[in-house]
Amino acid sequence: MQKTERIQQIAQGSGRFARRRFWSSVIVTLASLPSPGWAAPKPESGKALQIYFVDVEGGQSTLFVTPLGESLLIDTGWPDSNGRDADRIMAAAKLAGIKELDVVLLTHYHIDHAGGITQLAAQIPIRMVIDHGQNREPQAAATEKVWEDYQKLLEKEKFKRIIAKPGESLPLKGIETKVISSDGALIENPLSEGSEDNPACKTSKQYPTDHTENARSLGVLFSFGDLRILDLGDLTSDREMKLVCPENKLGKIDIYIVSHHGTSSSNSPAFLDAIAPRVAVMDNGAAKGGAPSSWDAVKSSTRLEDFWQLHYSDEGGAAHNAADPFIANLAGPDTGNYLKVTAWPDGDFEVFNSRTKQTKRYARAH
Ligand SMILES: [Zn+2]
Repeated sequence: MQKTERIQQIAQGSGRFARRRFWSSVIVTLASLPSPGWAAPKPESGKALQIYFVDVEGGQSTLFVTPLGESLLIDTGWPDSNGRDADRIMAAAKLAGIKELDVVLLTHYHIDHAGGITQLAAQIPIRMVIDHGQNREPQAAATEKVWEDYQKLLEKEKFKRIIAKPGESLPLKGIETKVISSDGALIENPLSEGSEDNPACKTSKQYPTDHTENARSLGVLFSFGDLRILDLGDLTSDREMKLVCPENKLGKIDIYIVSHHGTSSSNSPAFLDAIAPRVAVMDNGAAKGGAPSSWDAVKSSTRLEDFWQLHYSDEGGAAHNAADPFIANLAGPDTGNYLKVTAWPDGDFEVFNSRTKQTKRYARAH
């Protein structure tokens, strides 16, 4: 018997008392339904990939822990501030049960990405560093200082160091990786998931060549089962366009770590149109990144389910911010709340907001 038929029979066929009981049960059922997607965290996290989005106030620091327990930290936040960012990374490492970092990857040498590495190295052993090679912005004093400090640290600690090239994999067990961009160079051939024509290229504006360290960002695509996660650091729009025009070399992405904290010189509409993320996580600060143009480009993804932010964006205002449950740090005093993605081999994943203690579950893409 069809469910609707049975409901009709109950509602129509059994007199006034049964009708009243029917409608009161409907009301009780509706009231007790949880909001779609929000769920208790799934157990068995030992088999999961975990990603902590540490709040470094508009810089980047993202900690991956693979199901085999290997750790990769992408960027180290800012220096100074009494070691604020190193402390926040250590708090995430503690939550993840990590006592040393297998790999620290520096996307580029801007202070909000590589500035914190010396303070961090004083707190936790680092086994290996990966970067794009030499600083290409020596004329910028703050960036050159970060580079020089990094050279001193390499000299002192004798870390194993790898300079990554596009197309290479990272030495990490339990997850597949592909370097997409490094030192201004990009993958030359489409990945197997790519190669679609991208009609948005025809109408897209042209972007001037960026000569800053942003364009040198070491960007990586992560694959865990069918799940695809993209982190391109602060890669800017001229390089984005080369990745998706005239053909989409990357293919579609499930989780997009919003480039450049959502700054307007990254996140071109044609790029977002091509990668069409399902879920976006933006590592913005209250007054850094979170530009309306980036917001609009991400929101225009035809597959977008949710847009998570580390901070409410002052510049975004009422029209260009996610609803409160999707923001780790609202306007006002900052306590460094983090976001965490947990992904399983079956393709399911979830996002946890440490401010609200709420978790939202996403089913594998079909
Ligand atoms: Zn940055």
